[in-house]
Amino acid sequence: MCVLGLGLIGGSLMRAAAAAGREVFGYNRSVEGVQAARFDGFDASEHVDEVLGRAAETSALIVLAVPVPALGLMLGHIRDTAPQCPLTDVTSVKSAVLEQVRSFGLLDRFVGGHPMAGTAHSGWAAGDAALFVGAPWVISVDDHVDPDVWAQVMTLALDCHAVVVPARSDEHDAAAAGISHLPHLLAEALAVTAGEVPLAFALAAGSFRDGTRVAATAPDLVRAMCEANSAQLVPALDRTIELLTAARHTLARHGSVAELVESGHAARMRYDSFSRPEIITTVIGAENWRDELAAAGRAGGVVRSALPTRDSRRRSRRRRR
Ligand code: NAD
Repeated sequence: MCVLGLGLIGGSLMRAAAAAGREVFGYNRSVEGVQAARFDGFDASEHVDEVLGRAAETSALIVLAVPVPALGLMLGHIRDTAPQCPLTDVTSVKSAVLEQVRSFGLLDRFVGGHPMAGTAHSGWAAGDAALFVGAPWVISVDDHVDPDVWAQVMTLALDCHAVVVPARSDEHDAAAAGISHLPHLLAEALAVTAGEVPLAFALAAGSFRDGTRVAATAPDLVRAMCEANSAQLVPALDRTIELLTAARHTLARHGSVAELVESGHAARMRYDSFSRPEIITTVIGAENWRDELAAAGRAGGVVRSALPTRDSRRRSRRRRR
């Protein structure tokens, strides 16, 4: 496996994959990051074409773990050096990445991914082999995806002890706008608002800390995520502004925020009791497998242990005969 970008996510992935017994090597732009990874005993290099040449020779699964603005550069190198390798990514937006991969002619071997795990820190030193344990890892089931590559990405996610959520890229982006990108913008707005009130930081405790935690993320990363998902984030922001405007109105006119507080509390209770049934019946590569997985993911289903592929089914039938 070949990881491009050994920051928080790529570095965690390298550690988790190695801990699962996989052979893993990677590229990092900064020499400091490479040296730090090597010092910790990992196989890293700052020479992207050399790393990709090795990926091509070994048919390694390539994982793009760089921020959105760097994707084009990496995809250009992959197209030139390792176009036949299976390819995935960890980017927080999926439709924009899909379009970029398509524009580089690499769609056939690409299956998008997004591990829903992270911290507000960056770089190799922030990585942690246990980052993905129990985390949902979205793997895209768009119409083009190849069953063999999908199974490889599923195995990687399960090796990192994540649970796999199959989803179409556009549905992922609408959901990610609501549960990730919108919270980032709300956290920034909360931090700004409190920062303008004298004494506020002196009194700040749990609510402020929890509500603004993600505002500590590097601004470039937040911008990259939000701006690349504007098509889905704008309607989510509109809905929030509508709710807040209505709450402001009832508070100013009638001294009540009951409607927003009660519907917000009810939604949060629904989240707390949300069940995650295991997906066990789908055979990867069988007829309608992508639609089946997308429907199961939409209903909250997750893959906790490897699903069979059409080929593995055939092999086990032959063995039984
Ligand atoms: P990071 O800053 O810790 O690491 C980014 C890596 O990309 C570094 O190795 C950096 O050297 C490299 N990089 C940056 N610009 C580059 C360029 N122009 N050319 C080559 N390499 C470049 O960031 P991260 O948190 O690991 O984020 C990486 C990806 O993971 C992003 O796409 C992000 O959307 C996604 N992601 C982040 C989180 C999170 O919580 N941070 C969670 C899930 C997914």
